Amino acid sequence: MKKLIFATNNQHKVDEIKVVLGNLFVITTLQEAAIDIDIPEPHDTLEANATEKSFTIYKLTNQNCFSEDTGLEVPFLNGEPGVKSARYAGDNRSFEANIDKLLNNMISSLNRKAQFRTVISLILNGKEIQFEGICKGVILKERRGGKGFGYDPVFVPEGSKKTFAEMTMEEKNHFSHRKKAMTKMIEFLKIS
Ligand code: IMP
Repeated sequence: MKKLIFATNNQHKVDEIKVVLGNLFVITTLQEAAIDIDIPEPHDTLEANATEKSFTIYKLTNQNCFSEDTGLEVPFLNGEPGVKSARYAGDNRSFEANIDKLLNNMISSLNRKAQFRTVISLILNGKEIQFEGICKGVILKERRGGKGFGYDPVFVPEGSKKTFAEMTMEEKNHFSHRKKAMTKMIEFLKIS
């Protein structure tokens, strides 16, 4: 069975991805691998940040690993918050403050369209390959639901009436950007 380190400190992402992977691969989190590091995200694209994160962990461990970087892209805001999604309202990475800023910046907008975009960077035997997953939807004017994380309470994916924060993990995975990117990675790993 293939072993992979998932280069994240975000337990929500780990839980989502473990549901998708089932027993196909053994995933070790940074915490389980006893790697205590705040991985830098210094670049201005999701692709470059994903690469930075996976190579940081690969250089430390010399083991197969993957990272992912996700952004919420809003056309009315010229693609923002995008790569700045985690720190949209400041360096303390507050989910609540980020949502408040998003809703304020969209207050006058009739165009509520948005998409989550995930880029996964996989390092397998020292070589990198990337996978992308996109989930299109709309931003509500106020929060709904208490599950999930980040912008989940204000995002309704196309084909649903619920926000991500009103969905179980399995329901969210039916639509999710991360699930789509993960599925591509799994298909690749199966034949590698
Ligand atoms: P990261 O840099 O990939 O960890 O993610 C950037 C930010 O995007 C996170 O801090 C969240 O605010 C947001 N985000 C990423 N994935 C999701 C998601 O699935 N739902 C809601 N927000 C998300």
